[in-house]
Amino acid sequence: MPSDAAGSPIARIPFLDLSAVRTEIGAELDAAVERVARSGWYLLGPELEAFEAEFAEYCGVRHCVGVGSGMSAIELALRAAGIGPGDEVIVPAYTWVATWLAVSAVGAVPVGVDVEESTYNLDPDLIAAAITERTAAIVPVHLRGQPAAMEAIGELARAHGLLVLEDAAQAHGARYRGRRVGGLGDAAAFSFYPAKNLGAFGDGGAITTDDGELAAKARLLRNYGMRDRYEVEAAGVNSRLAEIQAAVLRVKLPRLDPWNETRRALAARYVEALGDLDSIAIPTAGPEAEPVWHLFVVGHADREACVEGLAERGVEALVHYPVLPHASGAYADGSYTASDLPVSERLASRALSLPLHPHLDPADADRVAAAVREVAGSS
Ligand SMILES: *Cc1c(COP(=O)(O)O)cnc(C)c1O
Repeated sequence: MPSDAAGSPIARIPFLDLSAVRTEIGAELDAAVERVARSGWYLLGPELEAFEAEFAEYCGVRHCVGVGSGMSAIELALRAAGIGPGDEVIVPAYTWVATWLAVSAVGAVPVGVDVEESTYNLDPDLIAAAITERTAAIVPVHLRGQPAAMEAIGELARAHGLLVLEDAAQAHGARYRGRRVGGLGDAAAFSFYPAKNLGAFGDGGAITTDDGELAAKARLLRNYGMRDRYEVEAAGVNSRLAEIQAAVLRVKLPRLDPWNETRRALAARYVEALGDLDSIAIPTAGPEAEPVWHLFVVGHADREACVEGLAERGVEALVHYPVLPHASGAYADGSYTASDLPVSERLASRALSLPLHPHLDPADADRVAAAVREVAGSS
């Protein structure tokens, strides 16, 4: 157990506390789970249908298709758009590996492009150089809850006839120029992994889009490619958002905006407390972006010493992500292409994420900030 200067034990501040939501809405969540358990209808039923309508409305789009995970949402959206073998798909070099794996899963080649130091997102100025005659799509990621530069990306995509699929797995509710992510490209993929801003009691995901044809194709593909009972029209997969998960998400969706508001307040607290430190890089957001702070990531030259020093002070910091997708074992076979990636490599070696979630006590956030000042100032 960590201790203070006088040797007294101090309470740990975990990176996340997913059970804390129970003190707020535990009874409602239990009731939703029980409602489904008693109904006897567990897949592709009324809860999913209702959640799809509610989430589409929240994102400001016509269609939402619930699927089994965020990675599956990317994969099925690409497949529904007709992207596959022979195609290249532009992805940020700095993202969770699932963005890349979904591209590979459809048989296309991920093309890694470097990111902006300030936003950790696709650098639109570097995309044009990565476009070839095989390029079929761009998958911008709204990493850490901060929207990517969608206007510049959209212009490039229109000029070259490319699909834009948002990876919004970390950005439920974020806005760009006043509009919600999920409706900023041709389609978007969301994850409801428990730790995301909108999380289920297990895996889940969704595709949002205004394109009725793409939605219908994705709906077919998520359920074996089955049109009517046992009439299989395409080689689909089994990737469905279960009724219990949809019911849980319906309880949580009305809380998403207030929770994101709390995340914003905590992020502002960190910026206020740490903004004057020269030794750490503090995240910033441009005026066009309204981020939802899925992660609060700071940069430090001696990242490992920081993480260790924080642990000694009872603060759990995590690293998102120490290894870039192209450098991971998944791409040891070289099945990708990439431009030079100086910024991504720098971020991957310096980034650490501080605890930030809607049920984090502001007093604990202050303790985190104080610990960061001690550690970052001295290392
Ligand atoms: C979580 C995540 C995914 C994958 O979502 P899963 O539900 O875990 O499959 C994809 N992209 C990004 C950026 C993510 O953070």
